[in-house]
Formats: sequence, C-alpha cells, structure tokens
Amino acid sequence: MHIVALGLALALSAQQGPGPNRGREKPMDVQMTIDDYNPKSLLVVPEHKVPRAKYPFVDVHNHQNRASGAALDKLVKEMDDINMGVMVNLTGRYGKNLAENVQAQKGKYPKRFVIFANINFENLDDPGYADKAGKQLEEDIRNGAQGLKIFKNFGMDLKDAKGRVTVDDPRFDKVFEVCGKHKIPVLIHTAEPLGLFLPMDGNNERWLELKLHPGRGRTPDKYPLWENLMAEQHRLFAKHPKTTFIAAHFGWFGHDLGKLGQLLDKMPNMMIEFGAIVEELGRQPRTARAFFIKYQDRILFGKDTYRKEEYGTYFRTLETGDEYFDHDRKYHGIWKMYGLDLPDEVLRKVYYKNALRIIPGIDKSGFPK
Ligand SMILES: [Zn+2]
Repeated sequence: MHIVALGLALALSAQQGPGPNRGREKPMDVQMTIDDYNPKSLLVVPEHKVPRAKYPFVDVHNHQNRASGAALDKLVKEMDDINMGVMVNLTGRYGKNLAENVQAQKGKYPKRFVIFANINFENLDDPGYADKAGKQLEEDIRNGAQGLKIFKNFGMDLKDAKGRVTVDDPRFDKVFEVCGKHKIPVLIHTAEPLGLFLPMDGNNERWLELKLHPGRGRTPDKYPLWENLMAEQHRLFAKHPKTTFIAAHFGWFGHDLGKLGQLLDKMPNMMIEFGAIVEELGRQPRTARAFFIKYQDRILFGKDTYRKEEYGTYFRTLETGDEYFDHDRKYHGIWKMYGLDLPDEVLRKVYYKNALRIIPGIDKSGFPK
C-alpha cells in the first residue's frame, strides 16, 4: 500500500517539476531493502583514519578463552600494532581452568594480560552455595584473577528451582564482598540494548540487528523488562558501596547520557566502559564530548568482540573531529558518526589512567606518567 503510494508520488513529481526525476521519462521504481541501501557519501571533508591509538591503552573488555601458544604470540603482535598495552581477558573461568588461563597468558606475557574470574553457577539451590562461591573466588584471586566478570545470562537466563535469578539476588552478596575486600573490580553485563527489548517494527532503530540475528530479541513473553533489569543492577551497585562495578557497554544507557550521568553521580562505586556502543557516542558528538569531560575519571576503554581492524573506528571517534563517517556495524545503528575530538588529558584517563587505578596489579612501566 505504501509502496504504491510512494510510486504514485514519484510519478507525479517526475511529471510536474523540479526534483531528481525531472526530465526522466519514468521514475526509477527500484525496490530495495535496508540491507541493499548503502549510499556512498559524496561529502568531501578532511578524514583522519587512526589505526593506532595515540597513547597505549588498556582494553578492559575482551574475551580470549584459552588463547595460547602461537595464537597468543600473534595476538600480542596485533596488540603492539594498535598500541594496546594490556588486554583484560574476561573469560578466565574458575578453579582449574582459571589457573590454566592465567598460566598460559600471563605466564608468557605477564605485563600484557589481565585475567578476570567468572562465577560457577552449579548447585545454586544448595544452602551452602553462597559460601562456596565466595571461597572459590578467594582461590581464583590467589591463582591470579584480578577482577570478576558477570556475563549477561545473569538476570536474563539464569534460573534456580524457583525461577529467574535476579541481578541483585542476595545469594551473591558474599562474592561481591570478596571483591570489595580484595579491591578487585566487577565488570558486569546486564540486559541488552533497549531496542532489542522493543517490538520489531518500522520504528525500531535495531530492526536490522533483529532481522540478521533473530535470537537477540528480548520480548516480554520470555524476558524481564529492560527497566526491571536496569533497576536490579543499580540496586546491586548501591548494596555494595565498597565494591567497584564496571557497567559494561555504558550500562546500556549510551542513548541517554543524561540519565547515565545521574547514575554515576548517585553511585561513586560505578564505572563504565564503551564496548560495542561506539555508534552511540558517534551520533551525539557534542553531548558525548561534554559527558566524557565531566565524567573523565569514570570511563574505561572497552571493545568486546576482538577484531583488530575495528579498533580504528574507536580511536577515530575519541581522538578526531571527523565528520559523517561510517562505523563498522550497520546493524548497530543506521547512521553516520562524528568524532569527539577529546582533550589529551581526557584521552589519557580513558585509555589507561583509569584502568591502572581501578584494576590492581597492572605493570605501569608500559604507560606514560
Ligand atoms: Zn563481552
């Protein structure tokens, strides 16, 4: 119905007067999908590609489960190319696996890797679970874990005999107290981008992602509401003021930095990292720049999925004032990006100073003063 109407409108404009179809015998009525429509911008403005970060940086959000041997050597070479001083591998696991991961990665490159532990969720219903989980983490810290990572199944998919386990479930208080006691941070991923919780229709800016990855939809028949998950996460942070929490992916508030600022104001133990949300920054360069300057002590560099060639877009967004450039993943948002042109002092904090302050035990010799 809409297509017919649009065709009619084009036909009329072609006949009647100025516009792209003036002089054509017949309007072009090519049908295409969002996937096909990839206009090449004719805009000519200065471009500054940034394949290597201006300062050495700590990537606090990475996954390198069991990378070792030659694969690890290759990874370190690539890290050198892009100026990644330290990679935080969040997939350290627990127990024997954690110890092996530490050995394989830090054993060979002690200055280049940081390993975070994960929680063992087996036997959640046992009355002794909380103590056991706390003790396990103590052991993992002794074996070299420098932080704890909570994956997104926590709050969304994790269930016990009674049903869904909430993000602020008291059973895990012990674990978070252990983190506070040892001053290791908790990097926590709760929920998903708001758009994935909304109906998949023509108004949803995540429509393409939902089409390409149908399993990512978080419809209310199967999942708790986004707002409830966020509230649970914030209650958890407030409950453990002596523990430092890093909300992954800007806590999924990249689209509402005003609200995110209020949360940071309220909870001094909350930090944030921008893994997989660079497109949120690049679509609001003025607001994001002001936010980075105001909260320069609270923001960490994160990327999540490791693809060497995608880091340049992060550096370009942070370091340059470039206009109207593409990001790497169209399905994360159908729009162009603009650089934040951050001041050097802010860049240094985001690239490494904040991470060196928050994560214990990183060798500082590879970073400028
Ligand atoms: Zn991740």
